[in-house]
Amino acid sequence: MKQGPGPTIPADRSLAVFCDFDGTFSIQDVGSTLARERLAERRRQLWARFEQGEFTAWSYVVELFDGFELPQAELYRFLETIALDPGARGLVAWCAAERVPFEVLSDGFDWNLERLQEIHGVRFAFRANHLEYERDVWRIGPGAPNPACGCGTGTCKRQIIAAHRSAHPGAYCVHIGNGRVSDLCGALEADLVFAKDTLVDALRERDKAFIPFETLEDVRRVLDAGRRAGRERGAR
Ligand SMILES: [Zn+2]
Repeated sequence: MKQGPGPTIPADRSLAVFCDFDGTFSIQDVGSTLARERLAERRRQLWARFEQGEFTAWSYVVELFDGFELPQAELYRFLETIALDPGARGLVAWCAAERVPFEVLSDGFDWNLERLQEIHGVRFAFRANHLEYERDVWRIGPGAPNPACGCGTGTCKRQIIAAHRSAHPGAYCVHIGNGRVSDLCGALEADLVFAKDTLVDALRERDKAFIPFETLEDVRRVLDAGRRAGRERGAR
C-alpha cells in the first residue's frame, strides 16, 4: 500500500487505540455472514425496511436476531470459520509492548467475541452488545446505546471514545473501522482515523481526514512511525 508521510503522534499525549471488530479486526462480518447464511429472506426484507429509515441500526438487529434459534455448538462451528485480519495479533502485541490501551469496539456480540478470542488464542479488551442463550435461542441487549448520537447502534463508539477522553484529558484517540453505520460516530470523535470500505465515503462526505488502510499491519506500521516521529520531535 502507498503511504505518504504519516501523522506524528504527540509524545506528550496518551495514545489509545480503538478498533472495530467485524470486517476490521476480523476478515468476515460475523453478524451479516450469519444472517446471509441462515436468515437470508428475513434479512432481505428487514434490510429494505432499514434502508427506508424504518429502523435504527439497533432495532434492525433486534428484529433480525432476537429469538434467533441456533444451537451453541453450531454457532461455535460457524465462528471457527471466521478469520482474523493478518495484522490483528501484531497490532494487539504492539499496543501491549508500547503500553498503549487497546480496545475493540463492536456493534456485534460479547458471546461471539469471547469465543473468537479462545479460537484464535488472542486476548483483547472489548465493548460490544450482549448475547445470551435461552435454551437454543438468542436473547440480545444493547451494550452502550446513546440516544443523543445519530448512529442508532447498540454500542455507540463516539460515547465510549468521549468517555475515555474525559477520564484521560489530552488523550490522543485512534479509531480503526470499516462501516458507515457503526464506525462513523467513533471516527468523527477520534483524533486519528484509519478507514476502509463504506466508512471511507462517509468520512469524505463529512470532510473528516482519515488514513486508508488494507490490513491492520498497515495500521501498526503507521502508528509505530508516528510514535517514533513524536518522540524525536519531543527530544529535540
Ligand atoms: Zn454513536
